[in-house]
Amino acid sequence: MNTTDYCQSCGIPMGETNELYGTKNNRTKSEDYCKYCFEDGNFTADVSMDEMIEICVPHMISVNENMSKDEARKMMKEFFPNLKRWKNK
Ligand SMILES: [Zn+2]
Repeated sequence: MNTTDYCQSCGIPMGETNELYGTKNNRTKSEDYCKYCFEDGNFTADVSMDEMIEICVPHMISVNENMSKDEARKMMKEFFPNLKRWKNK
């Protein structure tokens, strides 16, 4: 599995189908970002990496039953700087 399978903004796995992928401004599929983060060529929310992490914490713990908020936050703080959107910040 290569890194483009993950949204390069929020880190969700987008998988094999086109369903979760965002759209570029010419309405073609964005290979890098999910539909929640990226629509018609623009990010849906102008947030910092830390703000994005806070947005993702509740989602992360809802899909990982045994994960605490602190664990979720810590994991994303390690993972997110590798994503394209945050890499050069
Ligand atoms: Zn995303």
